[in-house]
Amino acid sequence: MPSVAMVSRLRRGDLFFSRLRRQLAVAVCPFTSSAAAHDGGTGVSGPHLPVLIVGAGPVGLVLSMLLTKFGIKCAVLEKSLSFSRHPQAHFINNRSMEIFRKLDGLSEEIESSQPPVDLWRKFIYCTSLSGSILGSVDHMQPEDFEKVNSPVCVAHLSQYKLVNLLLKKLEKLGMHVYPQDLSDDWEPDSPLEKRILMGHECTSIQPTNEGVIVTARVHNGTKVEERRFHCSILIASDGARSTIRRLVGVDMKGERGLQELISVHFMSMDLGKFLLKNRPGMLFFVFNQDTIGVLVAHHLEQGEFVLQIPYYPPQQNYQDFSPQACEKIISKLVGWAPQDVQVLDIKPWVMHAEVAEKYLTCNDRVILVGDAAHRFPPAGGFGMNTGIQDVHNIAWKIFYFLNEVASSSLLRTYESERRPIAISNTNLSVENFKAAMSVPSALGLDPTVANSVHRAINTGLGSIIPKNMQKAVLEGIFSIGRAQLSDYVLNEKNPVGVMRLEKLKRIFAEGKSLQLQFPAHDLGFCYKEGAIVADTSEDTQNCNRAGSGTVSREYIPTGRPGSRLPHMHVKPFTAASTKETLSTLDLVSGDKPEFLLIIAPLKASYHIARVILTKAEELQVLLKVCVIWPQYSCQSRSTGSRTELKPWKNYMDVEELKKERSWWDMCRLTNNGVLLVRPDEHIAWRTESDKVADAVLEAEKVLSQVLGL
Ligand SMILES: Cc1cc2nc3c(=O)[nH]c(=O)nc-3n(C[C@H](O)[C@H](O)[C@H](O)COP(=O)(O)OP(=O)(O)OC[C@H]3O[C@@H](n4cnc5c(N)ncnc54)[C@H](O)[C@@H]3O)c2cc1C
Repeated sequence: MPSVAMVSRLRRGDLFFSRLRRQLAVAVCPFTSSAAAHDGGTGVSGPHLPVLIVGAGPVGLVLSMLLTKFGIKCAVLEKSLSFSRHPQAHFINNRSMEIFRKLDGLSEEIESSQPPVDLWRKFIYCTSLSGSILGSVDHMQPEDFEKVNSPVCVAHLSQYKLVNLLLKKLEKLGMHVYPQDLSDDWEPDSPLEKRILMGHECTSIQPTNEGVIVTARVHNGTKVEERRFHCSILIASDGARSTIRRLVGVDMKGERGLQELISVHFMSMDLGKFLLKNRPGMLFFVFNQDTIGVLVAHHLEQGEFVLQIPYYPPQQNYQDFSPQACEKIISKLVGWAPQDVQVLDIKPWVMHAEVAEKYLTCNDRVILVGDAAHRFPPAGGFGMNTGIQDVHNIAWKIFYFLNEVASSSLLRTYESERRPIAISNTNLSVENFKAAMSVPSALGLDPTVANSVHRAINTGLGSIIPKNMQKAVLEGIFSIGRAQLSDYVLNEKNPVGVMRLEKLKRIFAEGKSLQLQFPAHDLGFCYKEGAIVADTSEDTQNCNRAGSGTVSREYIPTGRPGSRLPHMHVKPFTAASTKETLSTLDLVSGDKPEFLLIIAPLKASYHIARVILTKAEELQVLLKVCVIWPQYSCQSRSTGSRTELKPWKNYMDVEELKKERSWWDMCRLTNNGVLLVRPDEHIAWRTESDKVADAVLEAEKVLSQVLGL
């Protein structure tokens, strides 16, 4: 058995070798010149910042908040002069809401800022917003409100409103937004941490021995200047068209250009009031003879909408979608002309389904997160949510790496854990996008035909049909297609119409149209390898990922390593009233990157806890113990685990609340169970204390494996 001193020598040796490896790797990094090995030839010496985040979208901002809470100095560079108001994402899934719950109560603010759930729980399919309803699907289940699987519910809030809430939280942590012209006082040595620097576009990067030098172009009034920043770790959260991803030469893998769309952000109180009264919903799929579109009701009470219209360039061009043209399309979708439509923004965008081939490059100093690492169809709302969960995964790893507790192999587990999840979510989004297409297909409008016709005109037929006629030909073909949606075809007296409407009913009843909630993927995503001690048990339900065979939508709680800690209500021994309960997720700190060891009050489990507390302290790993007592353990309340865990103070005693299902049963363990939970609430290791022969050896093995020592 290695002694404690030997293990710590090994660890120091590991760090030495990892530094040596870093230096050797710098020599082969494509950006490095011999000058760059010292200061990049820029005159910027030594890292100014532990972490520089490029891109102040939701993902970059959430990471800046997590790192600031953990005491890691960081700054954010944002190329735009102001934050975008175009509301892209709006659906916040369960897991993201759990993460937001730990960000100083952000989830509560989201809940109070969002519209009431009854106004957005449905998707409605219709011939116009005031015409016949072809079907409607309710996406909320009773268990969502009962909070069975999670202490929070999914939410619906526009991305820019979420960003505003995040900025307010960051302000409270001392992280401020600096317009580029107010940063005139900037000197190469100015302290940068806690700044969100607007108008700073990252244009080049250069690795050094200690990290990365980032050059940003700053548009300062009439003059453009360049500023350089030296950081230990560079985070690329610069979105789907990431400059950093291009600079480091990382390719994307998957399907490109699934669909092109025009996104029209507009306000109309008239339309809001009409839908509130007649058919409240989140998404409206409108199919009629004149036009086809998807309306996203961001906030019915505020009359805020985004319309998505299929777009076929180069025959159609962006200029065709003037505000006036968009207003006409809106009237055709509504079925009457709202008088107060105010078009705020019109944006073309392309739907891809791609994941970056690598998440870490340049000697693990450049890390891709969010849309820079993956871009999916928005079907199912996985884009931003996956990005938020990416940074929740990397934040604690950055902490232990920068504090030299762990080597860069811990950082690399970010890729082995998160990349498979992005691939799975990409597959799921594509499947869900196809499900969305099943409705127009059932109506006799096969969107794949439209895309094929468009492709044919752009390739083969393009040489036969004169350019100035292509648009008319394309629109002619589309309007013939849309004739399938005429009242003449789609009615109860026409046998074709009857057959199509029947088919539609079946699609909705069988849940085969576009879905909003995927609990097995949202809460049940599970890391198979990475900063965990993988388990060989058969308990793999939630590890069935999209694209890998059978996909279950049901979330099944489990204590399997790699899974998110299951949620169950428990009562702290210190609770003053029976109403004072916690979720097991609350046992993990949101303010520091602390591991949590969960045990039952048994001799053998206490022994393991004492050994792990000792080992963690030696390695400078933050760790707390939670002892889960069976229900009605009142007689033990006065002493709790004090005697058994003496002299340690970082523990808490809680008791189960529900008699019908015990915590250990939920985790698929007996009450000899021991669970080690990471700071991101994913289970790192589980065992049964009566099966551990040598607790010291086991503790060393487990912590070394999880931290990649
Ligand atoms: C129509 C639509 C609906 C969607 N709905 C949902 C949904 O309901 N739920 C969901 O989870 N997701 C949804 N998404 C996806 C979601 O919008 C994205 O996944 C999310 O914006 C990604 O966040 P991010 O911070 O990674 O990137 P972004 O939000 O793109 O932010 C990147 C930031 O980096 C900045 N930047 C870019 N280049 C540079 C540079 N060189 N230097 C400095 N700064 C730079 C940009 O200006 C931008 O501010 C939707 C997307 C679309 C298009």
